[in-house]
Amino acid sequence: MKSWFKKSYARVLVDNHITEDDTVFMTKFDPQQYVKTILSNGCEVCMVYACCHNGNCYYPSKVGHTHKNINGRDIFGQTISLLKDSGVTPIAYYTVVWHNQAAKDNPAWRLYDARGSFRSGRYWHCCLNNAEYREFTREQIREIVSYDVAGIFIDMTFWPGICYCSSCRERFKKECGLEMSTRIDWRDKNWVLLQRTRERWLNEFAAFLTECVRQQKPEMSVVHQFSPALIGWYLGLDSSFSLNSDYASGDFYGGKYQQRLGTKVMSAFSAKIPFEFMTSRCVNLYDHTSTKSEDELLCSAATTLANGGAYLFIDAINPDGTLEQQVHSRLGAVNSILKPYTVRIQAARPMLVSDVGLYFSMASYIEPKLNGTDLFEFLGKTSISNMESVTDIRSLKEVLGTSIVLNQLHQLYQVVNDKCDDLSSFKTIIINNAMTMSASEVDRLRSFVKTGGTLIITGETSLYTPDGSSSGDFAFADVMGISFTGRKTGRVNYLSNSEDGYVMCDYPSPLVKATTATVLAHVSKPFTDPDDRDHYASIHSNPPAPAGDCVALSVNKFGKGMCVYVYSTLMALRNNAQQYFTAKLFKTYLKSDFQVDTNAPACVEFTILQSTVNNNLLICFTNFQDELPNIAITDFKATIKLPAKFAVSKSLDSIGKADVTISGDGQTVNISVSRLETIAIIELELIK
Ligand SMILES: [Zn+2]
Repeated sequence: MKSWFKKSYARVLVDNHITEDDTVFMTKFDPQQYVKTILSNGCEVCMVYACCHNGNCYYPSKVGHTHKNINGRDIFGQTISLLKDSGVTPIAYYTVVWHNQAAKDNPAWRLYDARGSFRSGRYWHCCLNNAEYREFTREQIREIVSYDVAGIFIDMTFWPGICYCSSCRERFKKECGLEMSTRIDWRDKNWVLLQRTRERWLNEFAAFLTECVRQQKPEMSVVHQFSPALIGWYLGLDSSFSLNSDYASGDFYGGKYQQRLGTKVMSAFSAKIPFEFMTSRCVNLYDHTSTKSEDELLCSAATTLANGGAYLFIDAINPDGTLEQQVHSRLGAVNSILKPYTVRIQAARPMLVSDVGLYFSMASYIEPKLNGTDLFEFLGKTSISNMESVTDIRSLKEVLGTSIVLNQLHQLYQVVNDKCDDLSSFKTIIINNAMTMSASEVDRLRSFVKTGGTLIITGETSLYTPDGSSSGDFAFADVMGISFTGRKTGRVNYLSNSEDGYVMCDYPSPLVKATTATVLAHVSKPFTDPDDRDHYASIHSNPPAPAGDCVALSVNKFGKGMCVYVYSTLMALRNNAQQYFTAKLFKTYLKSDFQVDTNAPACVEFTILQSTVNNNLLICFTNFQDELPNIAITDFKATIKLPAKFAVSKSLDSIGKADVTISGDGQTVNISVSRLETIAIIELELIK
């Protein structure tokens, strides 16, 4: 049972957060009809609600509240067994923290913000540090996993905010000897300690929940929501969190660019393969009816497959407990188009390969511009949940911006995180403003360069350690051949040289001086302070003054390798000007033994996957255009030069209209695609 997820790449979930506020709600839920509808969509796995955010259970719970309108029926149990009988793998959905009923019934269990409020809009939250609440979750999990489900998805295992309940305050005092701070300040070690502590507590809670399941059903899969990885510090996850799950999974609402990056993040953090990527059938979860087109659902699912993941569609139940058949017919059409591709990915259980790493540093996804902000004030202006598509954290925006340029260049890459002990398969690693780095991370990356690797580093990378301290200079100062002056630019600044002209950045950037690096561009500031309303050079804009002597772009040889440094976070900007500069930088300095030469447009993503069950390599092309339906890409060619270890002996099959020839000792694959609608997969055999 535990290995069910290895074989199932097409999955579905029906959200079910219906209240009891109307006597008709949930009264028409018919397990047989539900299963019949699910069978019509062709998914192999179905996640079924055992308990929702309202705290309503759909089975007779002894410890919790059962939805009163189901009149004592066990609709969860009936649905599970009917799905199983029909050959669909049932997974249970359970929610923690977001549990209205438990919070309403038990004031001591509630999560309290800094001013003593305990609810956020419709949501009531329980604090994971409350011992009684923990026992309650253990009992509910015990009830749920007693059913014949293959796995459990535990949603919302993260902090909805910073909790100041008595359990948290007492625990912080006992463990850290301090009162909990209410002011965001990443220069304050006590604030940083609170963040590290929240992460530790959350990990411990996730481990506790996983253990609750394992004790009862060791063979059952356990997965915690991992979408907060792309949100940043506030929800309290660190890079160890995914180790509490069998595989990484999360729901995302940020469109194709977020998905192309998000699938690679999930891939990097997943303990086992495949990772899972959830796509709602509605435009987002705040909308109950606006359904994505078949084309959009198809592009999204194809993108997940082509990155080696299992796709999961999210539908939401109607208040009366019925499902919309036409939605499931649409999902069925998508599944049926994708079937030949899904079968192929399923058979190979492949993983992404490349030798370019895009660094993902969860500890760095903080926002220094919030320094000094009162938490309460911050929350008054900001809404943060795992359903946000874009989060206002500069380093994350820069990682996303960088991933878009890599896609535009058809540059194969994968995400590398701070848990990756072996960097020897990489030729280049790009690090976007990863300001927080541990000594072991720094050591690993330093020896990566020493032994011949290329680092492309931006901004304040390696200026701080995880406890918030800093030597005042970058830990990579020697690797980069530069030194931090301790000063920063204002919010408008420019990279300037004769070749690139002026490349603007709209975010404060560190001012650095060269020690051993060769300087290729300097920093220009505007003539006047952009926030001075009375004195300016040009009324709309802030033109650059002549450049000073601080470094904007430099290259330094270190050991057998090289480090390229860009002072600003300009890669976060998605204008053609910044993207053009970044693309040129990558073309010049990024080293890779995978070389792609193609006339395919940027909307086609290239990925290469290596099978984990046989000796095959899969080259995937995914067409995902901004305006849908896709216009078919006709007659494009790609010549892909592979590293020696991925030399191929023959082409096995092409799903999609592609012709393949192999030359150059198996290291060059010439592909011509006569027509690409959405996805093509070319399967090749590696030379043994
Ligand atoms: Zn608390």
